[in-house]
Amino acid sequence: MFTIGRSDGWLSGKYTLKQRVSIFGATGSIGQNTIDLIARDLASYDVVALSGASNIEVLARDAIRLGADVAVTADETRLSELCDALAGSGVVAAAGQTALIEAACRPADWVMSAIVGAAGLAPGISALQQGATLALANKESLVCAGGLILETAKANGARLLPVDSEHSAIFQALVGEDMADVERIIITASGGAFRDWSLEKLATATLAQASSHPNWDMGQRITIDSASMFNKALEIIETKEYFGVSPAQIEVLVHPESLIHALVGFRDGALMAHVGPPDMRHAIGYALHWPHRKALPVERLDLAQIGALTFRAPDEVRWPALRLAREVMERGGLSGAVFNAAKETALDGFIDGTLSFPGMAEVVDATLNAIEPSHIDAPMSLDNVMNADQVARSAARAAIQKRAG
Ligand code: NDP
Ligand code: MG
Repeated sequence: MFTIGRSDGWLSGKYTLKQRVSIFGATGSIGQNTIDLIARDLASYDVVALSGASNIEVLARDAIRLGADVAVTADETRLSELCDALAGSGVVAAAGQTALIEAACRPADWVMSAIVGAAGLAPGISALQQGATLALANKESLVCAGGLILETAKANGARLLPVDSEHSAIFQALVGEDMADVERIIITASGGAFRDWSLEKLATATLAQASSHPNWDMGQRITIDSASMFNKALEIIETKEYFGVSPAQIEVLVHPESLIHALVGFRDGALMAHVGPPDMRHAIGYALHWPHRKALPVERLDLAQIGALTFRAPDEVRWPALRLAREVMERGGLSGAVFNAAKETALDGFIDGTLSFPGMAEVVDATLNAIEPSHIDAPMSLDNVMNADQVARSAARAAIQKRAG
């Protein structure tokens, strides 16, 4: 699984085991945090592939800096720009969906899946088909196609490691435990930008207000999803898929400080909580070094200084996304793919100003009700998931237009 590389030259005679790594979504928030960790210890890694989309400058800079074999932009129209930026570096430039899949098929030991949205699904499946360990930040993969992802990992002897902070926390709280002893899983939610806003005030929320998170520094889309609780809705489904628990065993707890990321409750009444600073390099580093722990450049919490941690129940009236997630889990089949695609389309609508903030949940609700059952009940395959995704995007766009007209 590892390539042998020389850490300090031919003559020293010292050899290290290098881990072959690829990062999909390298130019984003998770991707950049992953690169931050890898760049601190570059001698331990062979960087195979980096991918981005619009941010060609950062993609090329990091591909050169890390000595990647290939840099891929998902945007075919940007290929010549990427070629120019990589000229003379020895890094191969590529563009488009096929190139992305080809890059994911290159042998690697550890692959970070950090593309945002359903676009992350196909490269992740390709990496699993090669038997790579997939560090999964792209929660949409599990929401859209949980069964397919888990089956592909199993069939190819590949490992799936959670990177979402709550799921990494649950994973860590379960080390050495028996799933049969787990009574419940509690994922925490900061409450996002609008934690204390009334329903009336939520109707006036602007893009700038929704794009600023009180505790976490993340990409714009997940930041808005945190404000609408769609992020937590996706995470409830992610928890069910990854850990195989029933929807009734999953609880959401609002915890404004974002220091406890998740808790696991056992049948003897014990609750194991994972506590740490809101810094994604912890969860990324845990997945990168698993099954070991290595020193990470994250803040050490001073609990005496922090003083108090607070909790409250989530308000499902203000956050209909949580109710919708429960309906999706009950419906099963490909309804997760429909839910996610409707959410992505509604989010586009909010970002481009055609939908109000509460309008997003209304459009997702309308889309879930509008989809023909045959799309949801189709067998789970990549083609059927992507088809349900496309049908849901059209239905959500129609629902947005109907509201506008
Ligand atoms: P960002 O928006 O910061 O980055 C997204 C990445 O995906 C960028 O590299 C972007 O390229 C690339 N990309 C965008 N669209 C496409 C596309 N259609 N095809 C291929 N690549 C594309 O997102 P985050 O890093 O915040 O989130 C990434 C994933 O991780 C999401 O699934 C999110 O839910 C999850 N996650 C993120 C957390 C965080 O702290 N940020 C926490 C937990 C989970 P470019 O920028 O070059 O256009
Ligand atoms: Mg999370």
